[in-house]
Amino acid sequence: MFRVQVDPARCENKRDCLEACPANVLEMARPQGVRNPLIQLKVRFHGGLVAVPVREADCVGCNKCMEACPKGAIKVTVLES
Ligand code: SF4
Repeated sequence: MFRVQVDPARCENKRDCLEACPANVLEMARPQGVRNPLIQLKVRFHGGLVAVPVREADCVGCNKCMEACPKGAIKVTVLES
């Protein structure tokens, strides 16, 4: 199992990760739980959407999303079973 984390402060709605992911884990969506007003403003500036790992359970841990992201917004880690 893998944890896929996207930093909403870094994601700029470029969608390279969606193209790169062989398991269709990520979708663009409105970020939840962002309280920092500067990050909210940045997200709004970039269309109000960030990458969200909606199908995290399907992740195969290939790291292609991390490598594709030009902003270094994605981190994939192995979850202990
Ligand atoms: S590590 Fe691979 S399978 Fe997992 S979200 Fe990233 S691109 Fe998709």
